[in-house]
Amino acid sequence: MMRELETGIQFLRGVGPRRAALLERELGLRTLDDLIHFFPFRYVDRSRMTPISAIAPDVAYVQVRAKVVERKLISPKHLSVLVEDADASRMEMVFFKGVKWNYERMSPGAVFVFFGKPQVYKGRLNMVHPEVDIPQEGGLTQGSLTGIYPSTEKLKAGGVTGKVLCRMQEEALSRCLPEIRETLPDAVMQQLALCPLAYALRNIHFPLDAYALQKAERRLKTEELLFLQLSLLKQKYVRRNCEQGIRMPLVGAAFHACYRALPYALTGAQQRVVREIRADLAGGHQMNRLLQGDVGSGKTMVAVLSCLIAIGNGYQACIMAPTEVLARQHYENISRYLRPTSVRCALLTGSTPKKERKAVLAALADGTLGIVVGTHALLEDTVQFHALGLAVIDEQHRFGVDQRSRLWQKGPLGNAVPDAPVAPPHVLVMTATPIPRTLAMTLYGDLEVSVIDEMPPGRKPVKTLLAGPSKRAAMYRFLRGEIAAGSQVFIVYPMIFNNEKMEDVSNVERGYEEIVREFPLPDYKVAIVHGQQRPEDKNFNMKAFAEGRAHILVSTTVIEVGVDVPNASVMVIEGAERFGLSQLHQLRGRVGRGDRASCCILMRGEKCSRESVQRLELLCRTENGFEIAEADMRMRGPGDLEGTQQSGLPVALRLASPARDGRLLEEARAMAKRILEADPFLRDPANGLLAAELQKQQYAIKDYSKIS
Ligand code: ADP
Ligand code: MG
Repeated sequence: MMRELETGIQFLRGVGPRRAALLERELGLRTLDDLIHFFPFRYVDRSRMTPISAIAPDVAYVQVRAKVVERKLISPKHLSVLVEDADASRMEMVFFKGVKWNYERMSPGAVFVFFGKPQVYKGRLNMVHPEVDIPQEGGLTQGSLTGIYPSTEKLKAGGVTGKVLCRMQEEALSRCLPEIRETLPDAVMQQLALCPLAYALRNIHFPLDAYALQKAERRLKTEELLFLQLSLLKQKYVRRNCEQGIRMPLVGAAFHACYRALPYALTGAQQRVVREIRADLAGGHQMNRLLQGDVGSGKTMVAVLSCLIAIGNGYQACIMAPTEVLARQHYENISRYLRPTSVRCALLTGSTPKKERKAVLAALADGTLGIVVGTHALLEDTVQFHALGLAVIDEQHRFGVDQRSRLWQKGPLGNAVPDAPVAPPHVLVMTATPIPRTLAMTLYGDLEVSVIDEMPPGRKPVKTLLAGPSKRAAMYRFLRGEIAAGSQVFIVYPMIFNNEKMEDVSNVERGYEEIVREFPLPDYKVAIVHGQQRPEDKNFNMKAFAEGRAHILVSTTVIEVGVDVPNASVMVIEGAERFGLSQLHQLRGRVGRGDRASCCILMRGEKCSRESVQRLELLCRTENGFEIAEADMRMRGPGDLEGTQQSGLPVALRLASPARDGRLLEEARAMAKRILEADPFLRDPANGLLAAELQKQQYAIKDYSKIS
C-alpha cells in the first residue's frame, strides 16, 4: 500500500541522490507524493505563436517562433541575440545569465520558440531571459498546454530544467495514479460537481485541454478551501457543542453610568454591535467575535461598553493594543469614559516602571482592578487575573496572524488563581482593516463577524489628491497657507527595511532635513517620529504634536493606528505608490477628525508606474474602506494586505486564492457548514475520509479561544 507515493524522488529515472537533495533543499520535495502535489503556476499554449509584429509592449507573456539572425556578446555577462520570425519581423533576446551556453546554441539560422514577457527598451522591442525551447520537441504533454513549474537558479544550474521536471512528473504520475485514493466523500463530490482526484492530478500537470484544466483546478482548489474551512469551523462547532462560556446575564450599574454620561448618541451600527456582543456574553458559550470598523467608526466605545458588561457580572477585562503609543492613547480615552463609573483602569506596557507594575499586578490578582489596557506585556506569565472575563484585542492585524497565534500559545492569561472561572474568557478582536469578506472568511473562519458600517455624524470627508514631483513647491506653499490658518500637518514616509529587517530611517531623516529647510524656525516647529527612536524621544515628539506645539509631524507609518489629533487637518504621504491602498486609507483616517475641512495629498515618485497611478486614483475617488480593500486585494493579492500573509493560514493554499476564488470559497464554506451542522465531530462513517484527511494533513488549528 502506498509504496509508490512514499518512494523518494531520487529513484525516478535520471534523478539520483544529488538532484534529489537539490530538489529537497530548493523546493522541499522528498517523495513522489510531494512531487505530484507540486503544481505548475501557469501554462503555455504551445500551439499558439504570436507574430513579432503583433506584440504589444508591456503586455502579458507571449510565445514567438523565430530564427537567430545574429548573436552578439556585449560583455561576458551580456548576450544579445537578434531573431526574426516568418514575417521577417525582428526583435532582440537578451541574456544576462547562462551567457556562454546560450551563445553556443544560438547559432545563426537555428530556430527556437521563445517564451517571455516582452518590453520596449530604448525604443526597441526585446525580451529578457526568455524561456527557450526547440520547436517540435516536447511530446510530453497530452494536449497543447504545457505546465510551467516554479523554479530557482540553483535548480536550473543543477540541470533540473522545466523539461526535466515535466519528465519527472510524467513518470511519478504513471507510477502513483493507480494508488491515488479519493479524499472527498461521494456525496461531497456529487453536490459540488467535482471531478475525481486522480483525473485532477493528471490534468493539473498535463491538461488534455483548457476545459480539463479548469475542471482539475476547480477540484483541487475546492478541496483546499473545504479542508481549510473544515479546520477553522470545526473548532467553532465543537466549542458550541461542548465548551462552556462564562455566562454574563447582567448589564450592570457601570455600563448604565457610562452610557448615560456619553457626550453623544451611539450610531445605529454601534448600538447593533453592542447588542450582538451582549447576546454573545449572555449566551453561555464562549464569544469569539471579530469587530470590523473603518478608522474613526467608534470601536473604542463598543470595547468599553463590552468590558463594562464583564465587570457588571463580577469579572475583569483587558484590552491589548499592538503598540505602546496606541495602548497609552486607549488608556487615556477609556479612563475618560470610565469617569462616571467606579471602575478602576490601569496601563501596563513594557515601559511601566517597576513599582507601578507591581501595584498593577497586585490589583489585577486581587480583583480590585477592573480593566487593564496594555501591549504584549499583558501576555507575560507574571500577569495573573482574579477573574478575567473578556479579552479585547485591538488592531490585531498588526500582530500578523502567525505572530498572534504564537503569542497565544505562549502563555495563559491569568490561570492558577483558585477562584478564577474555569471557562475561557470571551474574546473580541477589533480591526480597522476593512478585510474583504472572502479574506475574512479565510482567515477568521471560526470567528463571528460584526461590522460597524456607519460613521459618527459630523465627520468631514477627506479630500484626496494625487500629485507628481513637479507639484512639490506648490504643495509646500499650500502647507504654509494651512499652517498660517492654524492647522497642523502630518508628513508620512514609507517604512523601509534593510537586510537585517531593521527599519531603515535614512529616508524619513532626509525628509525631515528637507522639511526643516523649507519650514525653518522660529516660524515653524517640526517634530519627527520613527521606529528607531528611543521611546522617550518618540513620546516627546508625539506629545509636542498632539499638544499643538509642533506644526508638522514627520514620521513613518508608526502613526498609522490610533493617534488622534483633531487639529491636524492635512496629511502628505510621500512615495505613496509604495503603500497598499488599505494602508493609505487608514493613514488618511488620521485627518478629518476635527472641525476643519481636511485633505490628504498623495505624493508619487518619479518612477510611479501607470498601474500604480490607477490604484492611487481609486483612493482619490472613494472613501469606502471595503471597496478599497477589495480593489487592493484584487490588484496586489491578499499576501500584500498587511498582516494577512498567507503563511499565517492553518492550511497552505497551493492553488486557491481568496482574492480570485471568492465563489469557490463561499461554496466550500457552505459545504463545510452543512457537514459540521450534522456531524460536528466528523464521527459519521460517511465523513470518515474527511476526518482522516484533516488529521493526516495535520491542519494546525488556530484556536482563538486559547488566549485563556
Ligand atoms: P476607531 O477606534 O474605530 O478608529 P474611535 O473609537 O477612536 O474610532 O472613535 C473616533 C472618534 O469618534 C473618537 O473621538 C470618538 O470619541 C468619536 N465617536 C465615537 N462614537 C461616536 C458617536 N456615536 N458619535 C460621535 N462621535 C463618536
Ligand atoms: Mg481605534
